[in-house]
This record gives sequence, structure tokens and C-alpha cells, in this order.
Amino acid sequence: MFLAILLSALAMTLIVGVRYLIVSGGFAWATRLRHPGLYRGLDAQMRREVIWSLASAAIYGIPAGVVAWGWQNHGWTRIYTDVAAYPLWYLPLSVFLYLFAHDTWFYWTHRWMHRPRWFRIAHAVHHDSRPPTAWAAMSFHPIEALTGAVVIPALVFLIPIHVGALGLVLGIMTVMGVTNHMGWEVFPRAMWRGPVGDWLITASHHQRHHEQYGCNYGLYFRFWDRLCGTDRGVGDFAKAHEKRLGDFAKAHARAASRGAAAPPGGLASEQPRP
Ligand SMILES: [Zn+2]
Ligand SMILES: [Zn+2]
Repeated sequence: MFLAILLSALAMTLIVGVRYLIVSGGFAWATRLRHPGLYRGLDAQMRREVIWSLASAAIYGIPAGVVAWGWQNHGWTRIYTDVAAYPLWYLPLSVFLYLFAHDTWFYWTHRWMHRPRWFRIAHAVHHDSRPPTAWAAMSFHPIEALTGAVVIPALVFLIPIHVGALGLVLGIMTVMGVTNHMGWEVFPRAMWRGPVGDWLITASHHQRHHEQYGCNYGLYFRFWDRLCGTDRGVGDFAKAHEKRLGDFAKAHARAASRGAAAPPGGLASEQPRP
């Protein structure tokens, strides 16, 4: 039995890790095509992002693997496979309930991790990405990874969900985690600038969190940020890119005038603290 649980945890870790490499790799590749040079000077940072993310994959994989084993062998959880078990309208509702519950948990744990002491211990790793890239999706300190890893395994015991709807929730979670960090918008401007963007979080919103720290804490929805007065609107990638390339050129010019090699990355300019 112990071996079966171990194997299930290992399999889940592998799934989460490979899923991360494929999705982040795919969007990093898309970034090279759409915005060549956007990640210039960030090689060392991206290596760190991949290492932290793969460590997070194990932390996500273990509880998920244990729960998946219990679901298969002991009927744990409220995951169902017969679509007719609940009315059809419950399918989209269950997806929304999962996203909203996850968003609520994320908002409050994220705010807690921006308290100075916990920021240093648990959240500084994530903000070491300046600016984040498509590889930063799971770049978390193990404590932060643990706060994220328990959410879905806990929710499946509380809120009934069809296995396909759960797959959709996990898909949304993965894609939004990557696209919110990759430094440009995949969604059409009309969407994130329009009424939908007033309530849904995309890259332009999370980008501002990485620039200014003390605002825009949400994950999928702007509900909690708006309710608690922590929403500072959406950022502007054009400006951010200009500033970054300007800083990059200056760092190189400074290094050249000293006759030294340019600092790798060289962009960790003064940042506001949490
Ligand atoms: Zn982030
Ligand atoms: Zn943060």
C-alpha cells in the first residue's frame, strides 16, 4: 500500500513537472517569436525559475498523488465520473466555484506573504524574477508552493466536481499561471481593457503586482482586490519594456566604460519593497 501511494505521488510529480515544462516552454517559445529579445539578459534568472518550479512540481505532486490514490482505491473525494450525477448547469458552476475558492485562498495567503517577515522567508523567491518570464509560473519557495499545493486536493473533498471539469480547472490554472508572468498579453486588448477585464485577471494586472508589490494580489478575479481596495488597475507593457531595455543599455554602457564585462542580467535595479 505504501508503495502504491509512493508511486502515485511520483507519477503526479512527473505529470506536474512535464506539464510545466511543456506549457512554460511553449509560451517561452511563443515569446521568442512574438517579442524577440524580451528575455534578453535573463538567462541566469530563467535557470533559477526552472529549478524552483521543478521543486514546486514535487510539492504539488505529492498531496495530489495521495488524494488520487485514495480516490481510485477508497472512493475518497467528491470527484464524480457520471455526468448525469448532477444537473448539467452544475458543470460550469462547479468550475466557477473551484476558481473562486482558489482565488480567495490565494488572495489572502498572498497578502499574508507580503508581510515583511513572511515575504523574506516565503515569497521573496517569487519576486526575485524581475521581470518574471514564462518560466516563473511555479517559481515559488517551498513554503509558498505548499500553500498552493493543498488547495485543489482539499477542495475535491468539499465541492463535488466532474473529473472533466476538474481537468478544465487544472488547465486554466496552468495556462494562467504561465501567461500572467510571461511579460506580454495573449488576450485581445478589447478583452482585458473592456468590461471583462474589469473582473478577470490577465498578465497586465499581475505585471503591476510584480512592479509595485503592495497591490493586485488576486489570481483569477479582481473581486477581492476591488473589495479590499488593493486594486491598482492594469499595467502597461510597452512602458515596462522600454524601461527595461533602457536599464539594460545603461548597465552595458556603465560596464563598458569601466572596461569590465557587463553584469549578467544586470537589471536588478532598486525595487520597491513589499
Ligand atoms: Zn507572480
Ligand atoms: Zn507577491
